[in-house]
Amino acid sequence: MTQPKNPMRNKPVVAIDGPAGAGKSTVARGLAKALQYAFVDTGALYRAVAFIADASGISWDDGPALAQAVLRHAFHFTADGTLHMDGVPLGGEIRTSRISSGASAVARHPEVRTCLLDVQRGLGREGGVVLEGRDIGTVVFPDAEVKFFLVATVAERARRRWLELREKGESISLAEVEAAQEARDRADMTREVAPLRQAEDAVEVPCDHLSAAEVVAHMRDYIAAKFPAGPDSF
Ligand code: C5P
Repeated sequence: MTQPKNPMRNKPVVAIDGPAGAGKSTVARGLAKALQYAFVDTGALYRAVAFIADASGISWDDGPALAQAVLRHAFHFTADGTLHMDGVPLGGEIRTSRISSGASAVARHPEVRTCLLDVQRGLGREGGVVLEGRDIGTVVFPDAEVKFFLVATVAERARRRWLELREKGESISLAEVEAAQEARDRADMTREVAPLRQAEDAVEVPCDHLSAAEVVAHMRDYIAAKFPAGPDSF
């Protein structure tokens, strides 16, 4: 069935969801570049909240205080998908193992999710955007024109994240990364608000044996077949 077109959009919204380490960011960035769309890494927003909490002495357990702190900051993404907070880029400081756990902890609070929902919907309102996260196709943009759900085995996802962390100079074992990732997935899948799950109308993309470029090519083929006159004339 063809979806009715959202009148706010000239171009589609592309939602990419999946568990930690499935390669969502790399693939979403590549797809956005190929389509010349904006790229929004929504996980960076949850990481920013954990980062703000650490910097201002707020507990990751205090949902109302976290939400109040979020409202004091302005967020935007540059074309390459870098999150800026109050005009300052957030880089490696939100990519540590500590902030990964913190992001998952703060993400369970409804107050935090509600604040970030507005930010995310604002960023995607006009379409022409690829958003990646956990609940884009289910909660943030349930009417997204294109939805993908990336899957990969725990072992493969842990291996990728471990290599990334090692490259950044963090000394951590593969077993530790795998355990932390499993804990994060469990928390993301079992939380009460907006748990990680595949939207019914999402296309599942198994990524274990594919390179990022191959996944992007597969997604582009899917989009080309769905919009034969081009994605911008949907
Ligand atoms: O994608 P990334 O690993 O950067 O996300 C960090 C954490 O932020 C996730 O473990 C998840 O708890 C949370 N998150 C979320 N909803 C999103 C994106 C991320 O709850 N849309």
